[in-house]
Amino acid sequence: MGIHHGAILRILRDDGPQSRAELARRTALSPTALTHLTAQLLKDGTVTELTQAVASGAPVGRPAVNVALVPDANAMVGVHLGAGTIHATITDLKATPKVKASLYFDTASSEPTAVIRQVVKTVEGLIKKSGVDRSRLLGLGLGVPGPVDTERRRNLLSINYDWKDVPFADELETMLSMPVVVEHNVSAMALAESRYGIGRNATALLYIYLRTGLGAGLVINGRPFRPGGHGAVELGHIQVVEHGELCSCGSTGCLETFLSEGALTRAVNIDKPHPRQLLAVVERHPDVWNAALRHLTTAIASATNLLNPDLIVFGGHLAEAPESFIDSIRKSVPPRVLPPMRDALRFERSSLGNGGGAIGGAAAALDQLFYSGVSR
Ligand SMILES: [Zn+2]
Repeated sequence: MGIHHGAILRILRDDGPQSRAELARRTALSPTALTHLTAQLLKDGTVTELTQAVASGAPVGRPAVNVALVPDANAMVGVHLGAGTIHATITDLKATPKVKASLYFDTASSEPTAVIRQVVKTVEGLIKKSGVDRSRLLGLGLGVPGPVDTERRRNLLSINYDWKDVPFADELETMLSMPVVVEHNVSAMALAESRYGIGRNATALLYIYLRTGLGAGLVINGRPFRPGGHGAVELGHIQVVEHGELCSCGSTGCLETFLSEGALTRAVNIDKPHPRQLLAVVERHPDVWNAALRHLTTAIASATNLLNPDLIVFGGHLAEAPESFIDSIRKSVPPRVLPPMRDALRFERSSLGNGGGAIGGAAAALDQLFYSGVSR
């Protein structure tokens, strides 16, 4: 696979079957080079030829032949590592999940080596369950709970796990014998929505995810935004009140001190495990609900003025929030951002559901290992 193969495959993924002439035009490759490259892709089964039906009355000649992606030609493993959770999937080349598995464990006793072993166990079980031939597995994408290095090999920090600089890609590549890409887990979800979900037509997509913490990921023109090289957008650590409660990050009054599983369950006095409809429960406590909404509105308005997204997608508990949540955000945020941004701004729930994190891992790996044409 080379960089030009990646360019051809991206066009076929995003815009469907194309003629060789159209592919040559769009990739700016010569017809000879294009024919050579598609011959290689045809040989390994990644693309196929579709003969178009010739309309009756059309002049007799060679029927038009289009080249099309074969999504099932290969598969990718996607893993979402959250706080005490592993969600894994095997997807096709369009990030459609074929099989899924989940594992829950206690974060308190989880050293990186123990968690890596659990990931390996989950993935090995999933491969067996799927019946996918290992030769067809292109690699694995792992979404991790915190920023990653620029090479996307290491998780630089995880507050939930109290980790620093864990070399996930090296360890997993050795144990699973396949290429591995590491991505910040919410950035991976944002990428999946942008490539394969509700954000396919968005220019700048901001994904906001509520579980243990409040995370965010930004994708601009189909690429994760990597400010400072590591790509984390720390919406949860915007300070929304002065002299507020101590936050897990060491600061005080962060948005996360109002809007995280821990903060909300404490405020409405319910026990773990968390109900699936956490925000429906919170809504019945107007003081807690209104404070969380007010501070989130401020944070989203600030983020919109700074980053100018045209689509904001809500994931995790926010994807399952009562309709009044989305209504309130749709009403309260736009008046607080500049008119051109206000007019373009849309708010939607995640379209990939609970499996979005694992699909995100697969999407990150597909981008790097397949559609870029640069495999390790
Ligand atoms: Zn904080």
